[in-house]
Amino acid sequence: MTASDPSAEAGLPELRRMIGPDEALQLVAQEAVAKSPRTVPLAESCGMQLAETIVADRDYPPFPRAMMDGYAITVADAGETVDVLGEIAAGEAGSGRVAPGRCFEIMTGAPCPAGTEAVVPREQIRRDAARVTLPGRIVPGQHIAPQGSECPGGKTVLRSGETISPLAVAVIASCGRDTVRVIPRPRLAVVTTGRELVPPGVAPTMGQIRDSNGPMLVVMARDLGLPAPTHRHADDRLESLADTLHRSAQADIVLLTGGVSVGNYDLVPKALELFGAKTVFHKVRQKPGKPLLLARKDKQLLFGLPGNPLATHFCFHRYVAAAVRRMEGKPSGLHAMQGELVAPVDRKAARTYFVAACAEHAKDATGGWRLRPLPGVSSADVFAPCSANCYIEVPSGKGVAATAEVLSFTWIGNAPWPN
Ligand code: AMP
Ligand code: MG
Repeated sequence: MTASDPSAEAGLPELRRMIGPDEALQLVAQEAVAKSPRTVPLAESCGMQLAETIVADRDYPPFPRAMMDGYAITVADAGETVDVLGEIAAGEAGSGRVAPGRCFEIMTGAPCPAGTEAVVPREQIRRDAARVTLPGRIVPGQHIAPQGSECPGGKTVLRSGETISPLAVAVIASCGRDTVRVIPRPRLAVVTTGRELVPPGVAPTMGQIRDSNGPMLVVMARDLGLPAPTHRHADDRLESLADTLHRSAQADIVLLTGGVSVGNYDLVPKALELFGAKTVFHKVRQKPGKPLLLARKDKQLLFGLPGNPLATHFCFHRYVAAAVRRMEGKPSGLHAMQGELVAPVDRKAARTYFVAACAEHAKDATGGWRLRPLPGVSSADVFAPCSANCYIEVPSGKGVAATAEVLSFTWIGNAPWPN
């Protein structure tokens, strides 16, 4: 390989010694353990894994329920004019009995009185004071949900391990529960590092830049449904890093950004060692995100994310999200899709290249998706890939991945969304 080869990479022998992105993902999945179940308010449980079995406490519906506003009647009265004995609203117990020649006015959700064979919608009758004339054709059972027709009492309706959806919340609430046992969400702590950083609202002086990783990681965590992470900042001194690590002790996952590479002020690996964390891996054969580090202290996972913002974004997307899913008791895997490149991408000789891209639906494309790569000028560049909805995985090798080549990609966050 010559220096003019576009796929040449500096430090090839070192790159070859590093672990690959698949092994790194496996190690993340191996190190992250599911949290112990806890009882939480039902309103907070959506998206979590259920850690108990939910059994219907009674029949649903618990009584034969009127499904329309109308009249509870007997079928023999079709076409007849009958007496209205009274009205039953939703929430009323409804005494009395429907019989030939005698009906009740009834509202949606009310229990049908004994003897009801059908409910005739209000729109289909003619009312004259306390009497109604019924239509000539009435189907037995129409507009009545029989007791237990949705779910009989005692039936298992949700099993441990299922993800709680909004419909599952409705089921659990119907079964009389306002708390539920779940695998709780992990708590994240974000630690930004670097004395060049100022918060986004502060005017930077020469040499300073604004902290973009901090706000980005906070929203990426929230996008996964996690509680808002704490955000602390450490300057490039071991004491400052140690202090933020100690203050982040409550978190299940600590995300440090920057300071994880080989510069004079890249003290995160040393700080983690002094903190007593064991390094699981450091450096991965990938672009962006080569300096990625994973360490563990007891049950706490600590990621040393690269400082370059796109690399931070990618490492959260691929690795941190996998750790979160594992701690939540879910499968860690990313769902890989297939699509066709619409423009060539330079391969990296010894690294898997994850290119931010925009996937657009296309019926005639392999896998149903066309992939428009949005490569920036470097792993720091978040401007070019700002509208990306996925990362394409370009295997290492020589030359280019050509237009129309079929590659795997993974959705970013809650994509696909229309672009
Ligand atoms: P480092 O690994 O600390 O040398 O950081 C690599 C690059 O990322 C440097 O150009 C840093 O200025 C930049 N960087 C580090 N942290 C952040 C951050 N929180 N927001 C934006 N850029 C950052
Ligand atoms: Mg730094």
